[in-house]
Amino acid sequence: MPGFELFGDTERKHLNDVLDTGVLMRYGFDGMRKGHWKAKELEAALCRRMQSKHAQLVSSGTAALTVALASAGVGAGDEVIMPTFTFVASFESLMAVGAVPVLVDIDDTLTLDPVAVEKAVTPRTRVVMPVHMCGSSAQLKELKAICEKHGLLLLEDACQAIGATYEGRPLGSYGDLGCFSFDYVKTITCGEGGGIITDNAKYAENADHYSDHGHDHVGQDRGAEQHPFLGYNYRISELHAAVGLAQISRLDEFLEIQKKNYTIFREALSVVPGITFRRVPEEAEENYSFLSFFLPDEAAARKAHKALGEAGVDGCFYWYDNNWHYIKKWDHLKDLRSPGKLPQEIIDGMPDYKNRDFSASNAIIGRTISVLIKLGWTEEEVNRRAEKMVKAVKG
Ligand SMILES: *Cc1c(COP(=O)(O)O)cnc(C)c1O
Repeated sequence: MPGFELFGDTERKHLNDVLDTGVLMRYGFDGMRKGHWKAKELEAALCRRMQSKHAQLVSSGTAALTVALASAGVGAGDEVIMPTFTFVASFESLMAVGAVPVLVDIDDTLTLDPVAVEKAVTPRTRVVMPVHMCGSSAQLKELKAICEKHGLLLLEDACQAIGATYEGRPLGSYGDLGCFSFDYVKTITCGEGGGIITDNAKYAENADHYSDHGHDHVGQDRGAEQHPFLGYNYRISELHAAVGLAQISRLDEFLEIQKKNYTIFREALSVVPGITFRRVPEEAEENYSFLSFFLPDEAAARKAHKALGEAGVDGCFYWYDNNWHYIKKWDHLKDLRSPGKLPQEIIDGMPDYKNRDFSASNAIIGRTISVLIKLGWTEEEVNRRAEKMVKAVKG
């Protein structure tokens, strides 16, 4: 998955453009920048590639989710439905705007179970936030129908799924808003960075202002700008955008390599008795950044994961024991641990996660192993890994 594996001349060229002018700031300094606007160019490239009308770059994927929520008017006490299996950034971004994360079960797609989502809707619900985990889509048609029925926003966290599709559309472009991460380990990277896409002009304008202190970006004189509302600094720098501009031009090349390597692993593993694969909705195509599969039960999954480690197959994830990606180990969320006092809306609204029943999610994640697909492997390395994996998993 990580684009950093293939840094090269294109990245260097865009970076040098920025260093040659010395303008590391994405706004202003028009006279000094010799026509280089890397962040603007990357936003335009993102719009083209993602078939979206507007794009706003920010400093991280977490910032993208936060800015997307704020831009759509989501705030204190609003409930947002999100999955039990995701990166911690999902609930962080919600709580940053004072919203309440309502975690619901996933199914064998490793994304939100639409039945569980429908059950979790209350009069306070404002958003459904599917996370396209490990490179494949949530069941967007079903989720959109729920959103339409209850008047909710659909916000796609596509941070791990850039380049994947649903009904032929790039993930992120199906909902009201979509978010990407360009952190160091994502399919394409800026080092750090994130992006929001939307077709909604008002949300886009709000995102532009909100991510830069609420400045309205009208006129040439930056000091004279108005502030239609409060904001923060979630800006991306020109240096980061320069790397991203090179990487997005190589996205399809990366996807092709991932698909090739993924297919070799999948074909090898499919002969192992008892192994089944993560369900991809029939309307969807993965970006092939991970191969995720199920063992028959938790004991078998633990045994297989251990054997993979012992065989030296790195990049294999058993999410059930992972501190970052699954509710089971999120004690800081369950205990509402914070350096300062949290907003009362969050304290009052937060479900009791210590005692909630997530047995449906446990039954899936307890059996799941995901293998990271890398870009830099030679064909020989891929084949050798596939062989090792089959041997380890067979036991
Ligand atoms: C990486 C990631 C994020 C956050 O992105 P950062 O750029 O690291 O802040 C959010 N959601 C998911 C699912 C991610 O994998």
